[in-house]
Amino acid sequence: MPELFIGGQWTAALDGHTREIRCPADGSLVATVDEAGPKDVAAAVAAARDAFDRGPWPGTPAAERGRLLLRVADLLERDKADLARAESLDTGKRLVESEYDLDDIAGCFRYFGHLVATGGADRVLDTGSPEIDSRVVHEPVGVCALITPWNYPLLQTAWKVAPALAAGNTFVLKPSELTPHTAIGLLRLLTEAGVPPGAANLVLGAGSTTGAPLVTDERVDMVSFTGGVVTGRWIMAAAAPTVKKIALELGGKNPNIVFTDSDFDTAVDYALTAVFLHSGQVCSAGARLLVQEQVHDAFVDEVVARARAIRLGGPFDENARTGPLISAAHRDKVASYVAAGIDEGAVLRCGGAPPDEPSLAGGHYYLPTVLDDCTPDMTVVQEESFGPVLTVERFRDEEEAVALANDTVYGLAGAVWTQDAEKAHRVASRLRAGTVWINDFHPYVPQAEWGGMKQSGIGRELGPAGLHEYQEAKHIWRNTAPRPQRWFT
Ligand code: NAD
Repeated sequence: MPELFIGGQWTAALDGHTREIRCPADGSLVATVDEAGPKDVAAAVAAARDAFDRGPWPGTPAAERGRLLLRVADLLERDKADLARAESLDTGKRLVESEYDLDDIAGCFRYFGHLVATGGADRVLDTGSPEIDSRVVHEPVGVCALITPWNYPLLQTAWKVAPALAAGNTFVLKPSELTPHTAIGLLRLLTEAGVPPGAANLVLGAGSTTGAPLVTDERVDMVSFTGGVVTGRWIMAAAAPTVKKIALELGGKNPNIVFTDSDFDTAVDYALTAVFLHSGQVCSAGARLLVQEQVHDAFVDEVVARARAIRLGGPFDENARTGPLISAAHRDKVASYVAAGIDEGAVLRCGGAPPDEPSLAGGHYYLPTVLDDCTPDMTVVQEESFGPVLTVERFRDEEEAVALANDTVYGLAGAVWTQDAEKAHRVASRLRAGTVWINDFHPYVPQAEWGGMKQSGIGRELGPAGLHEYQEAKHIWRNTAPRPQRWFT
């Protein structure tokens, strides 16, 4: 069956191009899928435009749109095992992690289904005149281009598709060319749940050939993008000539601040999860460990000892605790950041190479790596390696911790570890980041906004703001007793 979904039909690429999808854990062929070119993209945009301008979806009552999202959540739960397996084959991620993701994905559809059904944002205004009926209503933005990355393929897609549909938009989705399968699965479920033809469209392919024409097409009203900061900058500029609305979820270089008075064992444990989960391919990874000087040596020794013991393996290896990087090219990029760090004076405490186990030779694995004695000027401290690489800096006091933590162009997330609640809140309020955890790392809930300050992005996903991204506010003013004003007579 062909894999592009345009105007309610599964269709092959017009020029016949295809792409092989290979599992990063062992290089095995997962499938060969259609690869859209500019003509397919144009057809998908035309279908979404027509469905927005003439189709039933934007005018469908909010309660009904909400009910449809709840049906999608049920279908995601029904097909959880198949979707989790597909996600793990595309990404190399452990199956259990894909299963957790699927629970969150269904939860996201449920959250936006309930949120839109219960309304809430529209307002009746008191203008001071009983003859005026004045209301602010929220309408869909229009045709949305949704462009997503490979690290959490279906989760990042759900964060866009659920609110976009909830608000009554139509969309063209372009997932990462490396991880298309769960997007294909989701489009099948949307159709089964009753999304009308043309409201949901899917194009597969590379950023330059399939993503770029979506961003520049004047029939597209909004681009919602999750990915790297370099691509984000390009998208912002490319969207300017047609003044599209944009939402950007970009990278992070997230500080994890450990004070001397933190619970040592728990803070070490979370320092590992913060950065080595999914081999560091997490936008909110705690890749910069900032440790107060009195506890630095003992803390780093313990992190290194436990990092050395982390077992790598493929998605179905139940003893593995983390998996491969997404591609050989990405592993090379991670290795080059580690080399730059060592060059600039960091001390390699563990890792810094692919594992030498023969059973892992076919995959793109890289050992959990700790670089100590790092300083803020180092490339590996400033830039996102998006791999299992922890840099360690030491600080004297609260003031220096905050200064170091805020000293990158990013502002996505961060954490602070201390048993002093006042200090924790003081530091949390001074971190320039969209999410701050106190004595925790990584949790999020669909009710809370997610997104970045500074160059980590523009706008928010999840929470009420995650729905508003896909809405336009409109003020409707009705004069119930119009009479001539005679201003000019
Ligand atoms: P990427 O920027 O290379 O690609 C992301 C998506 O954009 C892909 O679908 C890609 O094909 C597409 N794309 C690339 N060039 C394009 C162009 N010129 N026009 C249109 N589309 C284009 O990012 P990636 O390597 O897939 O993902 C990793 C990045 O994503 C990391 O920087 C990570 O921090 C970020 N990320 C951020 C969040 C967040 O919530 N802030 C979440 C997940 C990932």
